Amino acid sequence: MARECPCGSGETYEACCGRYIEGGAHAPTAVALMRSRYSAYALKNADYIVATSLKDEKHASIEQAMKESDFYRLEILSHKKGGVLDRKGEVTFKAFYKTFCRTPQGEGVLHERSAFVRKKGRWFYDEENSTIL
Ligand SMILES: [Zn+2]
Repeated sequence: MARECPCGSGETYEACCGRYIEGGAHAPTAVALMRSRYSAYALKNADYIVATSLKDEKHASIEQAMKESDFYRLEILSHKKGGVLDRKGEVTFKAFYKTFCRTPQGEGVLHERSAFVRKKGRWFYDEENSTIL
């Protein structure tokens, strides 16, 4: 049976974020990239996080963060620009997780306004211009 996409779109993983995370396609919009990066966190795919970050991310530290937390729900609250012809975009979201290794343990929420830039037809996450809310 096809599994549902972790991003909560209601689509199957293969028809949704899986196309970008494993299928080699590029997310066409900032929201699509945001969703697929969330799904990569949920599935603990550090390669995809590194490949879609503007900044050089440390693979090991992302893997460590993934070991410490399980992301289980995404809510996209709003977005600005980030369309197929835009150069920049913003997505505000809440990502719900449970932590094991860090204190305090338990449930947490990451509420962030993420910035994205499009370069040579590909969207990237721009951490420097993103804000934790
Ligand atoms: Zn998805």
